[in-house]
Amino acid sequence: MDYLIRSMDTGRNFRVFAAVTTGVTEIARQRHDTWPIATGALGRVMTGALLLGANLKGRDMVTVRVTGDGPLGSIVVSANAGGEVRGYVQEPHVDLPRQIEGKLPVGAAVGRGTLSVTKDLGLKEPFTGSVEIISGEIAEDLTHYLITSEQVPSAVSLGVLVDGEGRVRASGGFWLELLPGAGEEVVGILEEHLAGLPPVSSMVDNGASPEDIARAVAGNFQINILDKTPVCFRCMCGVKKVENLLVSLGSEEIQDMIEKSGGAEVRCHFCGETYNFSAKDMERLLEEIR
Ligand SMILES: [Zn+2]
Repeated sequence: MDYLIRSMDTGRNFRVFAAVTTGVTEIARQRHDTWPIATGALGRVMTGALLLGANLKGRDMVTVRVTGDGPLGSIVVSANAGGEVRGYVQEPHVDLPRQIEGKLPVGAAVGRGTLSVTKDLGLKEPFTGSVEIISGEIAEDLTHYLITSEQVPSAVSLGVLVDGEGRVRASGGFWLELLPGAGEEVVGILEEHLAGLPPVSSMVDNGASPEDIARAVAGNFQINILDKTPVCFRCMCGVKKVENLLVSLGSEEIQDMIEKSGGAEVRCHFCGETYNFSAKDMERLLEEIR
């Protein structure tokens, strides 16, 4: 089971959020038929969005958009405080030569552009912040976003490991956030410690739980686990929502679809679910409009 934990060191110097998302990323791979590089990119963005979402409350939502000029196109993911995430990558079938054995060239496939984070906190206006993509490796870009756009001193690490068949072997990540009281000494120890950590995907592949990851990040500092939230791939689409969408197109458009295609097939970008509407279903929608 995939889950996420939030923890804080006993000296209140920092917090560590950590997640194992192997199942979530595998579901996304199956739903979108992503090839390895796209799987890696989408898995990293989904894990990052879940970590950001863990800082929200109730029905608040966070959407991460990575809009690069590389072959993957855009990656769009949204997650909520309840550990639900959904997302897609514009071009799931991308392959590039591997420069380093075992490492997916996500940065090259994302390219340069912008990373933006939108938080819908149930207020009138959602808050959006964006930064330029610095490496396209996602974790580095999210760290850059947190430091420059939100002024939160952070270190984010995200990783996805794919097997020879393209299935997800391991996926996970962590977000280390320094709290205002953290002294230079603590920061120095953490930095040194982080530099010596194995990649987070290797930790997950070796069976590390989110608690293990958080403890590895904290090193000699004692941490308390604050809470634990299951995470899953879940979309917010549904027949009713798609019907509303069709109705919003207007009766002329619906009439046109009935005549030209004898119905409609609507595919949800976020989760790949398809909704089929027969001519009869469409007639019913026309009735509703009238
Ligand atoms: Zn959907």
